[in-house]
Amino acid sequence: MKEIVSSYRYWELAEDDFDESVRKLVEAAKEASCRAYAPYSKFQVGAAVLLANGEIVTGNNQENGAYPSGLCAERTALFAAGANYPDIAVVAIAIAAQTEGEFLKKPITPCGACRQVMQESEARAGSEMQIILYGTDKTLKISGVKTLLPFSFVL
Ligand SMILES: [Zn+2]
Repeated sequence: MKEIVSSYRYWELAEDDFDESVRKLVEAAKEASCRAYAPYSKFQVGAAVLLANGEIVTGNNQENGAYPSGLCAERTALFAAGANYPDIAVVAIAIAAQTEGEFLKKPITPCGACRQVMQESEARAGSEMQIILYGTDKTLKISGVKTLLPFSFVL
């Protein structure tokens, strides 16, 4: 038996470290979270997807009384991007969450299903996407979905 150890790398950013592109994308994600439909969880998530053509497509969590019928912010944004710009690569995604009117101090990470959808967006684009996970105390920047989802399902 052979043990294999893998490692991953990510960056922790303070808001002072944001470049203009990250700042704009995070702001779009924060704004999108304000429009979330989250009457059950009261946990509002926003996602903003940057496309290779410079467009930003946003999404937010959309809950439903029949709980499994709702959808996360990340997939709402990625599917909207795919529906409207099917041939344009996703370059980056930013995610922000708030509850009771306050953005979270620690960044949240996408759920497993969203990671799988992010992986396929990346595969369609043929290049890694930057993942920006916003928190008021710290923001994480991750290059490539493989860091979030090693051994992803690939057809
Ligand atoms: Zn999700």
